Amino acid sequence: MSITSPARQTVVVIGGGYGGITVAKALDDVADVVLVEPKEAFMHNVAALRALVDPAWLPRIYLPYDGLLKSGRVVRDRAVKVDAGRVTLASGAELEADYLVLATGSHYPFPAKNDVEGTAAAQHKVRTAHGALAAARRVLLLGAGPVGIELAGEIKAVWPDKHVTLLDVADDVLGERFRADLKAELRRQLADLGVELLLSSTLRDLPPTDPGELRTFTVSTESGAEVTADIWFRCYGVIPVSDYLAGGAAGARRPDGFVDVTPYLQVAGQDRVFAVGDVAAADHKMAGIASRQAQLVAANIRALISGETELTPYQPSSPAIIVPIGPEGGSGQRPGTDDLVTAEFVAQAKGRELMVGRFAELLGVAAPAGLREAASD
Ligand SMILES: Cc1cc2nc3c(=O)[nH]c(=O)nc-3n(C[C@H](O)[C@H](O)[C@H](O)COP(=O)(O)OP(=O)(O)OC[C@H]3O[C@@H](n4cnc5c(N)ncnc54)[C@H](O)[C@@H]3O)c2cc1C
Repeated sequence: MSITSPARQTVVVIGGGYGGITVAKALDDVADVVLVEPKEAFMHNVAALRALVDPAWLPRIYLPYDGLLKSGRVVRDRAVKVDAGRVTLASGAELEADYLVLATGSHYPFPAKNDVEGTAAAQHKVRTAHGALAAARRVLLLGAGPVGIELAGEIKAVWPDKHVTLLDVADDVLGERFRADLKAELRRQLADLGVELLLSSTLRDLPPTDPGELRTFTVSTESGAEVTADIWFRCYGVIPVSDYLAGGAAGARRPDGFVDVTPYLQVAGQDRVFAVGDVAAADHKMAGIASRQAQLVAANIRALISGETELTPYQPSSPAIIVPIGPEGGSGQRPGTDDLVTAEFVAQAKGRELMVGRFAELLGVAAPAGLREAASD
């Protein structure tokens, strides 16, 4: 007589970014995991700006999904309609799910994120932008948040003689939730590199060229200052991806596109649909937070699968950030200490290797050999 084990429950994870890969991997041993992702490879966008100035990094930031799951599967497709228990894919296929995890993250302007789905084509887009940037003498970066600051630092580390202007409508760098002494330290390091900061500045019109296009233009601010540059990049604008929500689940989608969640990270009004990372209206938009939320959701789904009723609530994080300025510079703040993070700490924790090894390991990709090669123009 054969004994059959009870069927495993199915968890469909939508989106294979930082949150999606973490929750999928964490449940692979206990459920039938299906990860839906249109991209050919995981894109480690935390290192995307380094790859723009040094395309030798490209193979390290596009990491194939093949080694992520042992028993689950990755379906290369896009969810177009999602309601409790059922997912319709762009191909027309349908997936039934006992549990659903929304991990579709956000759009952000290129080069920080890259919407191109095929790896070769995505890398080609970066190489083309690299070629244009290498040939530009003057660069305008719109947005002096973490991405604008980091991109200014990356450009100056490779091409110290390029003129970089960092412009923002706000009266300081980085954004409101961070400490004044951290902003002052970042401003000091940028000034030492010769980055021109134009704060409290609103452009009358956006540049007439496309971002990343090599063509000289002049723009003026409301106060009458003029900036002439050969290329520009947009360094602001997180747009959550949740337009696929349908039926009852669509009620949790806010007008700004973020998805309301309960303290247990269930989608509002749903017991078995969860949301993690940039798409969830639960916390700030960071890869580290997406991973932490993913671990909590994995633990909560694991508990539900084993018949428990008590779930663990999510604790939002205190403001913390590490901002590299090139591989060796930058600063940051951490909870529980008044001291700013030193440039050496930033370099070790992030700036030099940009956490490539951690995500290569999670995806079961062989550790990338020898980091940072000379930038190729
Ligand atoms: C330049 C840069 C540097 C950064 N540095 C840091 C840092 O140092 N530390 C930090 O903590 N955070 C950092 N961040 C923020 C961090 O990258 C985001 O918070 C993170 O990407 C959020 O992860 P996520 O899993 O929620 O979504 P994402 O990483 O956006 O992934 C979402 C995935 O879902 C897929 N998807 C979208 N729609 C669908 C659909 N309909 N069906 C199926 N799949 C879909 C997408 O293709 C994508 O792969 C940085 C961001 C940028 C841009």
